[in-house]
Amino acid sequence: MLRINEIRKDFPILDQEVFGRRLVYLDNAATMQMPEPVLQSIVRHYRNDNANVHRGIHALSERSTRALEGARERVRTYINARSSDEIVFTSGTTASLNMSASAMVDTFRPGSAVLTTMMEHHANFVPWQQACKRSGHTFLAIPLDKNGDLDLRAFEALLSENDVALVAVTHVSNVLGTVNPISRITELAHKHNALVVVDAAQSIRHEIVDVQAMDCDFLAFSGHKMGAPTGIGVLYGKLELLEKLEPVQFGGEMVDEVRVAGSTFASPPLCFEPGTPNYVGAIGLAAAMDYLEALGLADIQSRERQLVRYAEDVLEEIPGLHVIGSPVTRAGCVSFAVDGVHPFDLATMVDKIGIALRSGNQCAQPLLYEAYGIGNITRMSPAFYNTYDEIDVAVSALKRVIDLLRSSSIRSQ
Ligand code: PMP
Repeated sequence: MLRINEIRKDFPILDQEVFGRRLVYLDNAATMQMPEPVLQSIVRHYRNDNANVHRGIHALSERSTRALEGARERVRTYINARSSDEIVFTSGTTASLNMSASAMVDTFRPGSAVLTTMMEHHANFVPWQQACKRSGHTFLAIPLDKNGDLDLRAFEALLSENDVALVAVTHVSNVLGTVNPISRITELAHKHNALVVVDAAQSIRHEIVDVQAMDCDFLAFSGHKMGAPTGIGVLYGKLELLEKLEPVQFGGEMVDEVRVAGSTFASPPLCFEPGTPNYVGAIGLAAAMDYLEALGLADIQSRERQLVRYAEDVLEEIPGLHVIGSPVTRAGCVSFAVDGVHPFDLATMVDKIGIALRSGNQCAQPLLYEAYGIGNITRMSPAFYNTYDEIDVAVSALKRVIDLLRSSSIRSQ
């Protein structure tokens, strides 16, 4: 059981007023707030141990390097990778997915296809689309069923009808909250000789991410979605696959020998980390993982599921509000559209009474424009530190603002 009152003391940012109202922060799918122990780990490192890593044989550099490599091992245990050599530090999910797309496209069989899905964030859609465009591979998207789950029959048909080299799929949708059955997806993909890349940007906090249980080939996530700083992320890859990829960015630290005649490169993961890595970010990421594990990942998962279910129930009571999708398992967020009310007006006006929601296309235009045909939406995304009372406050603010916007639009007609 999570002791929410105690936990909230670790997040002083939540205890503030905006525009004279108590802040209700329900935009955790965009970024989660950072707990004090993570902040302290960063300050401690800068105050006591800071020096560039891997480069100098002096005490501070060795301490910094040990902390970075310790963080790599921490990530390994958190996602249950086999080896810390499978953990590449990047600046975030977007960078991890771009790097995978650039590096992997050259390894695809001629004439093969990349399959992504209609619920992807642009970060797991556009890099593959662009890579396919450059290389002449086919780019396809798995459709959804009417509830917002992946249509697994259509997926199997696409696997049978095409020579699929790779499937790029999100673990949890950042709009629908759909939790995809990754183990089933990898099983089907592997049967057809296709690799699987998982976007775990959302699931890294809501779900228990075990790369061996999922048997995914690559997985990407960002630290800031789990209480770590911005600018740090991870690309996990099975070592035998990372070893087959050519680096796509070059510079210091990722090389073995550099001569005028040519260069050779270090082994993974270092060959994918050119330049000074964000070692302090990695230290913060390890501290965030310690923090979440100490609270209990299963407890966090169940609390977040309950909050999302509650949010869905109370939002649906608002007349004219339509929750988008009803997937078998929803985690992390509820998105909705309101008849006659523009999402920007709604989010802007509730902001003035202290409620932080997000409106827009959530970087998921194929989903909102092509699959659902609705355009922009509003999203509420609680984290474990939110309370039921905060959701009630947000819903009653939404009701008032919706009434106000509707009555002003009637008056202006
Ligand atoms: N994928 C998903 C599902 C996301 O929710 C996000 C962040 N909104 C990203 C990718 C991109 O993450 P980042 O901006 O941290 O690179």
